[in-house]
Amino acid sequence: MTSMMFDLKGKVAIVTGGNGGIGLGMARGLADAGADIAVVGRNAAKSAAAVADLTPRGVRAIAIAADVTDKDAVAAMIDRVGSELGRIDILVNNAGMSIRKPPHILEADEWQQVIDTNLTSAFTCSKAAYPAMKAGGGGKIINIGSMMSIFGASFAPAYAASKGGIVQFTRACACAWADDNIQVNAILPGWIDTDLTKAAREQVDGLHQRVLSRTPAGRWGGIDDFAGIAVFLSSKASDFMTGTAIPVDGGYSVSA
Ligand code: NDP
Repeated sequence: MTSMMFDLKGKVAIVTGGNGGIGLGMARGLADAGADIAVVGRNAAKSAAAVADLTPRGVRAIAIAADVTDKDAVAAMIDRVGSELGRIDILVNNAGMSIRKPPHILEADEWQQVIDTNLTSAFTCSKAAYPAMKAGGGGKIINIGSMMSIFGASFAPAYAASKGGIVQFTRACACAWADDNIQVNAILPGWIDTDLTKAAREQVDGLHQRVLSRTPAGRWGGIDDFAGIAVFLSSKASDFMTGTAIPVDGGYSVSA
C-alpha cells in the first residue's frame, strides 16, 4: 500500500537543470520510483552523463538541450517530451543561477538574467506544460525556491527577488489549476553542496563554518537529500497538498 502510494511507473517527468546538482538528485529519486525522465539543460555533455546515470534505473531517460530563458526553445522542449515520451505528468522547475553582487553594484542586465533564469522560466515552462497535464487528467509541478525565499542577503538582490517570486507564483498556480487536478508546490533547499555553492564556499570567508554552525543537522545538504521530497510531491501521497513551500534545510530556517 505504502509503496503504491509513491509509485510513479507510467508517469513522465521533466526536470529542468536535471543534468547536475539538486536537479539530478531529484531526477534520480523520480527514476527510482519508476518515472520516465526528460532532463533539460544547456550543457549537452552533462545531460548525456545524466541520461547514462538514469537509464540503468530501468526507465526511459532523454536529454533535451534547451535554454529555459528562451520561450521558443521551451515550447520545442515540451513538444519533444510529448512526442518522445507520450505525456507530461510532472514538471520540476529547478534550473537556476545566481550573480553575487550587492544591489548598488548589480547591473540591470544581470538582474534580468537572474530573474529570467530562476523565475520567468518557471512561468514559461509551467504554462507550456499545462495543456498536456490537463489533457492527461492532472499533474504535479514542483518549483525550487531557496532560503532566499524567506531571508535576505546583501549579495543576492536579484536571486532573493526571484526566489521570493517563486513562492508566490507557486501559490497562484496552485489556485488556478486545482480544478484541473494539478498540484503545485515549492521546495526551499537550505545550503547544499553543488556547483552553485562551490564558488561561494571558496570565495566567502567563513561561509562553510557559518552554515555548519547554524544548521541543526550539523552538515551541508547533499543532492541525495532531494530524492524523497521530489517523489512525495510527485506522487498520490501529496494529492491534497498544493501551494506549499517546504524547507529541506536540516533545520536552518528554524534555527536562531
Ligand atoms: P547547479 O549549478 O548544480 O545546477 C543548476 C542547473 O540549472 C544546471 O543543471 C544547469 O544546467 C541548469 N541551468 C542553469 N541555467 C539554465 C538555463 N538558462 N537553461 C537551462 N538550464 C539551466 O546548482 P544547484 O543544483 O545548486 O541549483 C539547482 C536549483 O536549486 C536552483 O534553482 C538553485 O537556485 C536552487 N537552490 C540551490 C541551493 C544550494 O545551496 N545549492 C540552495 C537553494 C536553492 P546547464 O548548465 O546544462 O544549463
